[in-house]
Amino acid sequence: MVNIINYPNKNLFKISKKIYKINNKIKNLIFYMSEIMYNLLGIGLSAIQINKKKKIFIIDISKNKNKLKIFINSKILYLSKKKIYFKEGCLSFPGIYKNIKRSIYIKIIFINIKGKFKIYKSKNIFSICIQHEIEHINGKIFLN
Ligand SMILES: [Zn+2]
Repeated sequence: MVNIINYPNKNLFKISKKIYKINNKIKNLIFYMSEIMYNLLGIGLSAIQINKKKKIFIIDISKNKNKLKIFINSKILYLSKKKIYFKEGCLSFPGIYKNIKRSIYIKIIFINIKGKFKIYKSKNIFSICIQHEIEHINGKIFLN
């Protein structure tokens, strides 16, 4: 059962809501998101892509799909001026790929699954993925 919403569904343009409590409902949602993402061979997925307007996204860029990272209420603290082009796709835009220029380095603040604030620095493909997913939770799409 796959419930991904695809462009031009207008919900992709909605701003997701902050999470205040990481209860079982949220944990189940994250588990469900991970199943969908792995099933579709994606490397990132935001809750809004399964029609849940919540500031959650997950990323796993490992080949074995065993390094799931969960990001809740993420905010960008720093984006490097140094940028790179990368050909991006999106599970909500099947078959569409576009070269996009994004910062190589990023620093974000988020809360983890235990509700703790974390600062996370990343570079290259992981940084690009985070920037792509943060756009999703803020109601933007990668083609704009
Ligand atoms: Zn996407």
